[in-house]
Amino acid sequence: MCATKNPPVDELGAYAQHIAAATRMLVMEEILDYSGHVAARLPGGDTFMVQNATDSRAELDPDRLLVIDLDGKVVRGDTQPPLETVLHSEIFRARPDVQAVLHCHLELAIAFTLMKDVELKPMRARAVRWKSGVPTHPDPRLIRRHEQGVALAETLGPHNAALIRSHGMVLVAESVPALFIDALHFKANARALMTVLQAGKEPVPMNEEEIAMIDSPREFHVAKLWNFYIRKGKSAGIIPEDWSTGI
Ligand SMILES: [Zn+2]
Repeated sequence: MCATKNPPVDELGAYAQHIAAATRMLVMEEILDYSGHVAARLPGGDTFMVQNATDSRAELDPDRLLVIDLDGKVVRGDTQPPLETVLHSEIFRARPDVQAVLHCHLELAIAFTLMKDVELKPMRARAVRWKSGVPTHPDPRLIRRHEQGVALAETLGPHNAALIRSHGMVLVAESVPALFIDALHFKANARALMTVLQAGKEPVPMNEEEIAMIDSPREFHVAKLWNFYIRKGKSAGIIPEDWSTGI
């Protein structure tokens, strides 16, 4: 694996480096492990880039990413797509506004599919991203068949996150860097709510008035945190120094 060389200088290079960097950093932040994936829609809208089924998320190589169309056909690469590829393709098909999708099996998120009468509401300011709600998809199986992908996209609807019963979650965003930052905040918000529940106290989510007060510029915030985590990843030897991962 040539993880330390620059990606090919072509129009897909920036996408590939963003996906590989985000994936490695999501492992660093204990959101991804041996499974789950980040997908990014490519220009033109009807193809997306995603890793293959088996390459390690901890050392993902941009040169090995696959390009797949919305019908699940691999149009670049010769390795096996992820088992749950249809999850990405059907979300991209249903949501033209979505440019990046994360699927992961975060334990903390799964825990909220195992409790009665607890909704994953915004507890922390950054979680206003999910103010419209976080629906739970009732089918716990791997999302492998077309109709399962369609059903998950229906559960997600217009929201920016969905949980999958006893299985995991999906997040959607306008770019890979934004998706990565959202994943950090989603985990932090779930942790905050779990901390309250574990203290045996009644959660007090942010109310509508408080949510309406939050007006942080998203683009600035994403760029600032992306830069911080890229530097953190490079310092830790997780992101090769010669990767160009600016936004
Ligand atoms: Zn899964």
